[in-house]
Amino acid sequence: MADAVRIAMFGGTFNPVHVGHLRAAIELREQLALDQVHMIVNREPPHRQVPGVSGQDRFAMLSAAVAPLDGIVADARELEREGPSYTVDTLRSLRDQYGADARLMMVVGVDAFLGLASWRQPDVLFSLAHIVVIQRPGAELVLSDEVAALVDGRKADGIDDLMACTSGCYLPLRLPTPIELSATAIRERLALEQDTRYLLAPEVLSVIAERQLYRQQ
Ligand code: ATP
Repeated sequence: MADAVRIAMFGGTFNPVHVGHLRAAIELREQLALDQVHMIVNREPPHRQVPGVSGQDRFAMLSAAVAPLDGIVADARELEREGPSYTVDTLRSLRDQYGADARLMMVVGVDAFLGLASWRQPDVLFSLAHIVVIQRPGAELVLSDEVAALVDGRKADGIDDLMACTSGCYLPLRLPTPIELSATAIRERLALEQDTRYLLAPEVLSVIAERQLYRQQ
């Protein structure tokens, strides 16, 4: 029997997508031998609104950035869906797309993972996918009691262990080239009209220039 397909979902606001995200996607694909990494743009959560940078603009930056990369796709399914976008629904749609045998991974940085207990139906996430937690410099993996209870007994021993089943495990993963960079730091630089070359992909810089994004009103 052919090996089961290996798929990751890597969601984010991507406002804008930066080299920390892109290197993480590339290295994840290498380390886990993934067939496809779906980078999925979230709708802007209400408390994080940045005027002028719509989901479409963030998707345009992401699409341009991943166009040259093998096995990494920009995915607009959360933007296309009506109403609030919950990860659990997105994982269901990926599970429907790739089938019951697929190894499906939800990838999050440590900072995002620490908030797992407040996500919609966090226990159901594990019935749909594994959770892979990527280390981020400056963010320590110290679990709250609630998150510890959610992952209790689920920790995989390594990548082979993770790939032995379709869902249900969690794996903290240290990638070869951690990059200490956030979109917040990029937006601060852009607001001050500081140079962001080598922090953003050249394709992203082009979209920002063409669409005149992150300009002060
Ligand atoms: P912001 O500063 O606006 O909060 P961000 O840089 O954290 O943005 P998001 O779009 O919120 O980016 O993050 C999407 C996902 O990518 C999250 O799971 C986050 O933990 C992860 N991530 C963000 N930056 C990095 C990085 N430098 N290295 C590894 N993972 C990252």
